[in-house]
Amino acid sequence: MKKKFTFIANWKMSFNFQETLAFATDFHEDLLQLSEDIADKIIICPSSFALHSLSNIFKDSTIKIGAQDCSTHSKGAFTGQISAKSLRQIGCTASIIGHSERRGYNKETNDDVAAKYSQLLDADLSPILCIGETQAEYEKKQTLEILEQQLAPIIKLYDGHVDTTKKKPIYIAYEPVWSIGTGIIPTPEHLESIMSWLHGHLKKPLPNLSFKLVYGGSIKPENAASLKNIPLIEGFLIGGASLDFQK
Ligand code: PEP
Repeated sequence: MKKKFTFIANWKMSFNFQETLAFATDFHEDLLQLSEDIADKIIICPSSFALHSLSNIFKDSTIKIGAQDCSTHSKGAFTGQISAKSLRQIGCTASIIGHSERRGYNKETNDDVAAKYSQLLDADLSPILCIGETQAEYEKKQTLEILEQQLAPIIKLYDGHVDTTKKKPIYIAYEPVWSIGTGIIPTPEHLESIMSWLHGHLKKPLPNLSFKLVYGGSIKPENAASLKNIPLIEGFLIGGASLDFQK
């Protein structure tokens, strides 16, 4: 049987409210068909203003809706933030956290990202945890060191114990920062070794943790086929190309 992947569309702030609704309604049937034909699951992550509307448009379908971020807190005086619980109430099933744009522009630390991860688990949402090294770190051969630092507070959250009653899938998205929006993708050898390292690094302390390894960064129709052949990759996080239905 052909391997089916999870496709996560990160729409960032690319569409305004009207454009987001127009895409979801214009391609409603096509998206449902696409998800049936090629995907294990499609998760669309629009801006927060459109989460509720898109959850209604795709209610009870194979298209799931995810946020692009959530608060580190469950409630309180945190102007402008959205709690994981509220995301769930408006129909989300997942949220991206730790995207390099938020780590960069919003100065989010690995501990902040772990706090968000914990909020998502508590609210029964799937974390889509983004990790990855910068160009400079890659050139200095610090990739594994950086991934280790980014994962350390996440692993610590479990304290050796995985609550296997929490059934929402966990996505670990390897997104080298030098690949996001640049048109450059890592070599298959690099990706294979990173995916294998990630698998071992998580399974060693947490053998019962179930997660899906995802790749993100400049995925396009031209490179998708080769990326699909990389063992251990079970999904793709797609930015630019996900804004064009044909792509
Ligand atoms: C992203 O920002 O998560 C991403 C993968 O972007 P792009 O596909 O445009 O490189």
